[in-house]
Amino acid sequence: MTQVQLRPAVAALPPYVPGARALVGAAAFKLSSNENPFPPLGSVVAAIADGAMDVNRYPDMYATELTEAIAAHLGVNPAGVVTGNGSVAVLGHVLAAVCDAGDEVVFPWRSFEAYPIAVGIAGARAVQVPLTADGRLDLPAMAAAVTDRTRVILLCTPNNPTGPAVRADELEELLDAVPRDVLVVLDEAYVEFVRDPLAADGLAVFAARPNVVLLRTFSKAYGLAGLRVGFAVARPRLAAGIRAVSTPFGVSQLAQLAAVASLRASEELMARVQAVVEERARMLAGLRAQGWQVPESEANFVWLPLGDRALAFAGESARAGVLVRPFAGDGVRVSVGEVEATDLLLEVAEGFAR
Ligand code: PMP
Repeated sequence: MTQVQLRPAVAALPPYVPGARALVGAAAFKLSSNENPFPPLGSVVAAIADGAMDVNRYPDMYATELTEAIAAHLGVNPAGVVTGNGSVAVLGHVLAAVCDAGDEVVFPWRSFEAYPIAVGIAGARAVQVPLTADGRLDLPAMAAAVTDRTRVILLCTPNNPTGPAVRADELEELLDAVPRDVLVVLDEAYVEFVRDPLAADGLAVFAARPNVVLLRTFSKAYGLAGLRVGFAVARPRLAAGIRAVSTPFGVSQLAQLAAVASLRASEELMARVQAVVEERARMLAGLRAQGWQVPESEANFVWLPLGDRALAFAGESARAGVLVRPFAGDGVRVSVGEVEATDLLLEVAEGFAR
């Protein structure tokens, strides 16, 4: 060999394509990354500014204050909370803690594009289970995909990019069906936007099931995508394993301070979430009134199953000043943001031949 070789699993990784950022003119709206459209609260900016003079020091390695604030907020044991540089990093650490080469990880597809990448990096084998026709996770098929080599099942609820949330009854069935030594990860990145009373309550499920881990983030409802803070809630023994493989000092002090300040401002932030939920209802109703077949959404985005015309729609939308996220050959995901952005998006959708 004349040059350094990549691990085959790394050479085979699919790309993670970030949502478009380029501005398309004065009226550009970025609905391509499921971000929060509201700027940070004054109290959060003040917390970040307060920490700025200390950036010559390393952060608190275990994010003690934040971990305790999360635990108090959710009513869980702080020993089970593990923070990281975005929940996508925490997912990598969860897999690193439990998967050996060749172990299987079952996850839905289409779902969050980081899953096949994280599984590949862990050296595990990806077992992808197709969604149902209405964009839901097919939990019976996922349970049936479990083998002796399965170590982890990833459930994205609500599912990115299609929108539906896993129901409590179907989750109970899956948990009853799979062996107790299979870790079931509930990726609840969008949990604060869920309004379906039949949706699974992750915290209640976690309390009853030692093989369940929750993944949550400050990037969406809490509006801190640019600071990269996510966390897992696990049993303390597993949490210790996740901590052991985590990047040392993985969450900056500014991010820790901002996240603590955001938890203190939860009430105000959840009022913003409610505004997004109402805007989501308006976007869904508008699209359906135009004749679009759109799955239910419990998150801050909606899914247009456009198939081969996904890229054409995204181009049309960009020309109108709205950046959306196309998945070539499959569909377009539109984040719910500003009221004006919904208006523009509905105009584009109206004019686009179905
Ligand atoms: N899980 C899901 C389902 C997501 O859609 C995202 C963000 N796109 C994440 C996790 C990662 O969030 P973050 O790394 O910003 O915490």
